[in-house]
Amino acid sequence: MKAMTIRPILTVPNPILKQVSKPVEKVTDETRALMDDMLETMYAAPGIGLAAIQIGVPLNVIVMDLAKGDEKSNPQYFVNPEILEDVEELKPYEEGCLSVPDVFDEIERPERVKLRYLDYNGKEVTEWAEGLYAVCIQHEMDHLKGVLFIDYLSRLKRTRAVKKVQKGEKLKVAM
Ligand code: ZN
Repeated sequence: MKAMTIRPILTVPNPILKQVSKPVEKVTDETRALMDDMLETMYAAPGIGLAAIQIGVPLNVIVMDLAKGDEKSNPQYFVNPEILEDVEELKPYEEGCLSVPDVFDEIERPERVKLRYLDYNGKEVTEWAEGLYAVCIQHEMDHLKGVLFIDYLSRLKRTRAVKKVQKGEKLKVAM
């Protein structure tokens, strides 16, 4: 049986969130233990995506589960993800983030991206992501570069968002 731990999620303006994460050399049991904890932490939040840096680990690791309401859970794991290609068409989506609780705003991103990453077992996968999958993976990959979705907003909106988090307002579903 796997022992999973729910870890605290860092929120803005914690400077660790601005760190650039590093590639994982090899997918090992230690990497998998990290991914298990991340998934547990994400489910408990609750959220649909989580990058390792959000629990203070500066590694290129992301977990995600885009299953809706009564659908069977569908955990996805990404180690060292890269975007190989994207499309010119942008699509707006109202994003939220577990590190910026209760702030939601519309962000435009390419509507499809071609990804390469290592999965839970260290196997290389190349595939196109679209819809919410494309939104979420781009949002999470920004975390690996120390970028938050609120960094795309105006300075006024960003300041307001950070203040709202500092006041400790309540959490909704986010990534
Ligand atoms: Zn986020």
